[in-house]
Amino acid sequence: MNINNIHGATTPFYLYDTALLRTTLDAINTEVKRIPNLHVHYAVKANAHPCVLAEILKAGLGIDCVSGGEIQTVLDAGFDPAKIVFAGVGKADWEIRLALEAGIFCFNVESKEELEVISQIAVECGKVAPVCLRINPDVGAHTHSHITTGRAEDKFGIAMEDMEYVIGLCALLPNIEFLGLHLHIGSQILEMEDFIALAHRTNELQDRLEQQGIKLRIINIGGGLGVDYDDPNNNPVPNFHDYFAVWAEHLKLRPGQELHCEPGRAIVAQCGSLITRVLYVKEGHEQKFVIVDAGMTELIRPALYGARHKIENITATQNLRLTDWLFPATDTAVYDVVGPICESTDVFAEDIVLPVTRRGDLIAIRSAGAYGETMASCYNCRPLPKGFTIDDLSDTDA
Ligand SMILES: *Cc1c(COP(=O)(O)O)cnc(C)c1O
Repeated sequence: MNINNIHGATTPFYLYDTALLRTTLDAINTEVKRIPNLHVHYAVKANAHPCVLAEILKAGLGIDCVSGGEIQTVLDAGFDPAKIVFAGVGKADWEIRLALEAGIFCFNVESKEELEVISQIAVECGKVAPVCLRINPDVGAHTHSHITTGRAEDKFGIAMEDMEYVIGLCALLPNIEFLGLHLHIGSQILEMEDFIALAHRTNELQDRLEQQGIKLRIINIGGGLGVDYDDPNNNPVPNFHDYFAVWAEHLKLRPGQELHCEPGRAIVAQCGSLITRVLYVKEGHEQKFVIVDAGMTELIRPALYGARHKIENITATQNLRLTDWLFPATDTAVYDVVGPICESTDVFAEDIVLPVTRRGDLIAIRSAGAYGETMASCYNCRPLPKGFTIDDLSDTDA
């Protein structure tokens, strides 16, 4: 990428490396070829930018949605409804209706109350609703407590002790077709032990159901695989091989059973950077602050979860690819990098070493492709950020 081309673009904006996204999708598809009956649904809440969706569509993945808006977005983008799964603890009536009319593959149902409403609406629409039950497996994950979803105290899913009862309801309620179980324990999980624990729990549940003569066509193990936020340059593609090896080794699938999964972050995090310009370098008495023109409105993860992203001053580099930014050996200083929003948590980094930074410099906040642009807000009446691919910016002499 010619860095000069992004000088003129209006900051802040998201920059997507579609070549890296394709490499990542190829890595997943290599695993899909190895494991029979593996179906991958991209969790579109991570990033719904059209350039991202176009690559995911080309790679042949299905989609995991958590809202009617997401279902509509991916239908408009050309995805096959028969590859869409739909989760979420609070599905509204119109969202259920939309999913039924579209003919999605499966609802991941999170409560018996929801199951009853889906049944009613399915009867009204004259459709049959295929469902997996999302079971809360009470498996913790070594990740930030705000992004675990599979502990008994989390709001997601149906308690294990209610599993048989709700499966029984599926048989009783009209226009419901029971397909299997869905489990999702959280996000940004890097300890394979957590997934192994989930595999073991799933085996227990499956054994228990089999003893009662209940067969599962589908096991959906959710998403959650993490990425290397500290070192995106050396680890641009997550280790899908080890991740899928966990399931191949520990999950006891029955003959003909389908394994479904729903990675979001692992597919898109590393392909995106938030590009922002330095407005001021403020010399405080204790700290030096690099004040940039992006804030929690563009990337809320640091403010919301205490997340940390690698930050690079890219102005000093020339003619480098997005993944190859290097620092020249110049003078450095220690800075806090902060946004302009009127919130004390609007901080991207504290006490980091950067090359000596000046007003006008461009900063890349790396690994921002997941839960970045999709979580942007208009707080402080700010405009939503735009997203570009590297090609977009080199086509124009922006
Ligand atoms: C968010 C979500 C995912 C994707 O999680 P990642 O950590 O981005 O892989 C998958 N399944 C469900 C049900 C989700 O809510």
